[in-house]
Amino acid sequence: MTAARPRHWPMSQFPVIDDCLQIGGLPLTQLAARVGQTPFYAYDRRLLDERVALLRRILPPAMELHYAVKANPMLAVVQQLAGRVDGLDVASLGELTVALDAGMDPAEISFAGPGKRPPELATAIAAGVTLNLESAGELETVARLGHEQGRQPRVAVRVNPDFELKASGMKMGGGPKPFGVDAEQVPALLRRISELELDFRGFHIFCGSQNLRHEALIDAHDRTFELALRLAADAPAPVRLLNIGGGFGIPYFPGDTPLELEPIADNLRRWLPLVSERLPEAHVVLELGRYLVGEAGIYVAEVVDRKVSRGYTFLVTNGGLHHHLAASGNFGQVVRKNYPVVVGNRVAGTEREVVSVVGPLCTPLDLLADRMELAKAEVGDLIVVFQSGAYGLTASPARFLSHPACVEVLV
Ligand SMILES: *Cc1c(COP(=O)(O)O)cnc(C)c1O
Repeated sequence: MTAARPRHWPMSQFPVIDDCLQIGGLPLTQLAARVGQTPFYAYDRRLLDERVALLRRILPPAMELHYAVKANPMLAVVQQLAGRVDGLDVASLGELTVALDAGMDPAEISFAGPGKRPPELATAIAAGVTLNLESAGELETVARLGHEQGRQPRVAVRVNPDFELKASGMKMGGGPKPFGVDAEQVPALLRRISELELDFRGFHIFCGSQNLRHEALIDAHDRTFELALRLAADAPAPVRLLNIGGGFGIPYFPGDTPLELEPIADNLRRWLPLVSERLPEAHVVLELGRYLVGEAGIYVAEVVDRKVSRGYTFLVTNGGLHHHLAASGNFGQVVRKNYPVVVGNRVAGTEREVVSVVGPLCTPLDLLADRMELAKAEVGDLIVVFQSGAYGLTASPARFLSHPACVEVLV
């Protein structure tokens, strides 16, 4: 007996009517005609709203929700979310501009990321957003620029914790890291913030991305709260912001199952009373990227050729890794696995076949699906890659091979 082959989690967020996928209430074929070109990304407004509503329903009411813009910085998406979350987290001047254009109150925007340059910092100080300090050097630059502008910069300290997030797809804290200030150096930094008379807001502690195991996130939250309470003893002002990071994962690959939110919410419910007793002015914030937008988006490419090579069938499409690096397996994955993929205009189909879906780039890395069972597709059919709302277009090398640009729509 062989074990059953792991399958993709069903992508039931998009209905199928007459064997055609529906996005934002439109059949995919109609949406493609409306967009006017392939390839494109489409994001579903209703799914964004539903995801925020789900988190609001399950998390403790005092828990604040921020959107980490780098997951998907499309202005329309950020605007949609800006009206529903409590704040936005940005990691560049470009993202800061999007966040401000989306109408978010600058007091609810925080700016993290290593290597912020003086012009970026100056803009952020003028805008009045909170700067998550990543190093002692950055602190000195911020103080100097604030002095020059006659403004008191708002700062929080991004802490590189003394622990790691277990089972995380991408570790962002623990050990030597370019992100944040090592926990053991934070007390000295806090003294310097006090000397320089900056507006100290609190702490930002973020351990890692794409975690599907609630136990690992609970463990990270426990250690994050413990660390924050310890560091708060040296704070020059009451802690008003305690950002415990993001990292909630979504199921991409065969065998992945959705993250269970309830145990995470239960653990937060245990912590929040203690946190509010010890840090009565603190707003506790989760900053989620992938989890808010990832499942609301698809990538759509058109079949331009079918060919058989030594017994393998290839569907050649006009889209590929230049638009969707992550689906090709080249954005942080250790072992390449298939994203969930269907033929969007014939989901079940009348005949099935095992095929590989490739893009037009002259590299074997340009693979959207490797030997997957799909409905038998013809030239002109629409290949859909699910779970594409986060770390898609802007996380891809769009100019590689100089093919036409991709477009994005929010429907
Ligand atoms: C990328 C990032 C996030 C979002 O991570 P997700 O895994 O997408 O939730 C949150 N905070 C910071 C500082 C980040 O860099």
